[in-house]
Amino acid sequence: MEKMMDRCGLFGMFDNNGFHTSHLIYYGLFSMQHRGMEAAGICVNDNQGNFSYVKDEGLVTEVFDEMKLEKLQGHAGIGHILRYDGSDARENAQPIVIRYTSGHMAVALNGGLTNIEEIRHDLELKGSVFQTMEAAEVISVLISRARNNYPTIEEAIASIMPMLKGGYAMLVMTPRKVIGVRDPQGIRPLVLGREDHSWFLSSETCAFDELNVDYVRDIQPGEIVVINAEGPHSIQGMPAQPIRACIYEYIYYSHPASVFGGQEVYKARYNMGCHLAKEAPADADAVVWVPDSGLAAAAGYADTLGIPMVDAFVKNKYYGNNLVKPEGILFDRKIHMKLSVIKSQVKDKNIVVVDDSMVRGTTAQTLVELLRHAGAKSVHLRIASATISHPCYYGASMPEEKKLIFHEQGVDAVCKMTGADSLAFLSSEGMVAACPDAAGGFCMACFNGDYPTK
Ligand code: SF4
Repeated sequence: MEKMMDRCGLFGMFDNNGFHTSHLIYYGLFSMQHRGMEAAGICVNDNQGNFSYVKDEGLVTEVFDEMKLEKLQGHAGIGHILRYDGSDARENAQPIVIRYTSGHMAVALNGGLTNIEEIRHDLELKGSVFQTMEAAEVISVLISRARNNYPTIEEAIASIMPMLKGGYAMLVMTPRKVIGVRDPQGIRPLVLGREDHSWFLSSETCAFDELNVDYVRDIQPGEIVVINAEGPHSIQGMPAQPIRACIYEYIYYSHPASVFGGQEVYKARYNMGCHLAKEAPADADAVVWVPDSGLAAAAGYADTLGIPMVDAFVKNKYYGNNLVKPEGILFDRKIHMKLSVIKSQVKDKNIVVVDDSMVRGTTAQTLVELLRHAGAKSVHLRIASATISHPCYYGASMPEEKKLIFHEQGVDAVCKMTGADSLAFLSSEGMVAACPDAAGGFCMACFNGDYPTK
């Protein structure tokens, strides 16, 4: 894994229009497939409060077919896509569905909780038994235990929120409600949308765009939005703290067409390229972008310096999860199946390559090798974010700390390792300045170690 991956995407809806709920959730999840490719799941609620669900490992298109979607009949539902970097994706697929004294409940989570092991251990000591390793299951047990003490499910959720330390967005479905919850610092995104009398919750606005759903607003930090047959209403689950939205959503995770906290992701990436050009100009004949997330930053970089941007890398469209990864002797020969280079675009030229971020440095090394092999005269690497030197505890799937290239090494050593002629990164100030429309501050902990929570 070179890029950090966000662990999940959420999409839920409460339908009052007679839409095909499961189909819309399916398309919503499909439009956010970039947020997780290990597993997918949809749970729907028929009008009687009975829940049915399908979840399994694989892409959205692999888990569902027309027959399965047709069987998922209901007026409300929540869906989830999982990025998991460890144990069994099938076992940990979400939504988690339980039955307790108040009926069915389904829970889907995006994010990471720093104290989830302690909570789980405490519940186990009290007799709870868990079937998955997912925090969503722990949360479902917490909510079900709290529910008896509160008149409404939202009040029960509010009562357990102070226990949850970390960055998260969550969907909860009960027989009469679909509920969205966002952590009190707004680290993970969650947005509300509407079409006529139907209401939607999603990790990203790009899902609304694809379904012709109108974006209404971001769920606020600490807010619990409750959607039922009458429409949405909110309670404040926890007092909102100063917002610390994940800045890596703008750098890499989110779809470029999405708007997060008022800031369009594409524009943020373009601005990052502009700031990078001012901070670290390179004397080059052409700017080369790295598919796909490096495109906007490379455009900003090229426009600012007046250097032509060329298409040099071509991504193999069919490279994916199912490819047998080269190992052993094949890996040693550095067979790179994902990208190929158009030689005429780079031969005998001084090239500046713009990518969005660097985690382990292995991709940068391969890019430089590919360009040199194609005849580039010189290769300068420019990265449109700061150096990543700390782990993320809020749901980004990333290598352990010691595998982060900047955990122990400096820029000069990494430049040498990649084989580039020069290497430079955008400053933290440049990243923030690139997001002028974002409402509030940012989590930048993986860049600077300043974690929003303990
Ligand atoms: S640590 Fe990095 S990836 Fe994790 S939430 Fe903060 S900015 Fe995002």
